[in-house]
Amino acid sequence: MGGAIMRDDRTIVIAGGGTAGWMAAAAFARFVTPGWRVALVESDAIGTVGVGEATIPQIRLFNRHLGLDEDQFLRETQGTIKLGIEFRDWTQPGHAYLHGFGDTGRPLGLLPFHHYWLRAQAEGWARDFGDYSLNSVAALKGRFARFEPQGPVPPMPYAFHFDAGLYAAFLRRFAEARGVVRYEGRIVSVERNAGGDIAALLLDGERRVAGDLFVDCTGFRALLIGETLGAGYEDWSRWLPCDRALAVASARTAPPIPYTRATARKAGWQWRIPLQHRTGNGYVYSSRHISDDEAAATLLDNLDGEALGDPRPLRFVAGKRQGFWRRNCVAVGLSSGFLEPLESTSIHLIQTAIARILAFLPAGNLSEADRAEYDRLTHLEYEYIRDFLVLHYHANGRVGEALWDDARASKPPPELARKLALWRSSARVSRRDEELFAEPGWTQVLIGQGVLPAASHPLADAVAPGDLKDFLDGVAQVAERVSAAMPAHADLLARVAASPPQERLTA
Ligand code: FAD
Repeated sequence: MGGAIMRDDRTIVIAGGGTAGWMAAAAFARFVTPGWRVALVESDAIGTVGVGEATIPQIRLFNRHLGLDEDQFLRETQGTIKLGIEFRDWTQPGHAYLHGFGDTGRPLGLLPFHHYWLRAQAEGWARDFGDYSLNSVAALKGRFARFEPQGPVPPMPYAFHFDAGLYAAFLRRFAEARGVVRYEGRIVSVERNAGGDIAALLLDGERRVAGDLFVDCTGFRALLIGETLGAGYEDWSRWLPCDRALAVASARTAPPIPYTRATARKAGWQWRIPLQHRTGNGYVYSSRHISDDEAAATLLDNLDGEALGDPRPLRFVAGKRQGFWRRNCVAVGLSSGFLEPLESTSIHLIQTAIARILAFLPAGNLSEADRAEYDRLTHLEYEYIRDFLVLHYHANGRVGEALWDDARASKPPPELARKLALWRSSARVSRRDEELFAEPGWTQVLIGQGVLPAASHPLADAVAPGDLKDFLDGVAQVAERVSAAMPAHADLLARVAASPPQERLTA
């Protein structure tokens, strides 16, 4: 995203005011006005999905491009810092590992760190892989620091947990202050012109919102891209079998920890997301493997504070649209597809869709070549993330439970199968162009899920045993020492909460 783009007399109409709608409105308000008009239609009667509280570090880029002040953002959204995700019980009861953002260890010579760790592991003296990750060590200690980029310690990558409703409200104020016009009402039909493009949304009360480019943020219903323009849906439930979730907030019982927790359960997994004012919880499960009542009982039995209401049911099918940009309409958010929040990627997909729309913003009608390229990039992005999620299921160790037995036995998607074969044979990770998760993420999850390769790189054997021990110990000691000197995450939140409210929304 760069400076404002100047155009006259064109209107972008955003259908839907959930997280996707208001993120799009804020970004368009910041980057395509003045010149373009931006309108948003939402219906309080229909409401939003209202979940989506954990993110990945790229969200900071989105906020920074908008010019949001981070402390104000944390205050307004009851946000907390997220250094990674802890996966509990995915391999066996009591086992846990962290997928911390950022690197584990550091490369030595030609090789990435994990080859040296694998040698030490094979020799029987390695510590947990996570002990060599600053993010993981700091997360488990409940510590966090914002390091200066030019300082002796490289900045720690971090993301946020936040209240999705408060974030949307925050962005709404931002967008409306920059001229976005909001229409409250239900879209009852969609008017198309003689060529088949969308001309206007017709709202109850006989109102008409006309536009040139329509952004479908209507959630799972996909009112424009699906119902109106007929873009089909590709079902990925053969790889990601969970099709329901129950979400419930619970009372905070302790200072918020700076990481998400994802605990495997009999028929899916449970999330725990610590916010300042409450804890978000949910059970993502397969309805073929557990009843709704049993899932609700499991969720409520596994809260660490009092439930603040009844569990809220959500239904979905893992997968994506067969096309994301059709005619003068582009899908953003849940209308474009759904991948369960195991690695907190949905809000990221909203963010990248918005950035891509800005990159492809058409002067008139989008050309067929542009549309095809937009779709190609989006399909790939979905597939890359899907494969990373499927890894968690496929490489589970929960023997004797139907969902997990099936997941181990099922054939992974071809690209994941290729990646697994490469890793198993030689500890190499291949990353395709623009793939979201890179070597640090793949190695942490592969090793965390217990997928250990047959061999590490032969050059790792060239290091003298004493030198190897010094190297690994040194890395772990630095993570330990640096994290021990960091302030407590809870202190940062207290300081943010106590700092005076700012007059402006933007820096
Ligand atoms: P919605 O929130 O459903 O919004 C749809 C909007 O369209 C609403 O404003 C509605 O009023 C409007 N609308 C619909 N029909 C009409 C109509 N006819 N007329 C007028 N308005 C209409 N993402 C993450 O990044 N991290 C997470 O931890 C995470 N956890 C999740 C857990 C679960 C169980 C689920 C289901 C999702 C999770 N997500 C997560 C995804 C995240 O919630 C969504 O990506 C995000 O909320 C965006 O939703 P949306 O705006 O596309 O749709």
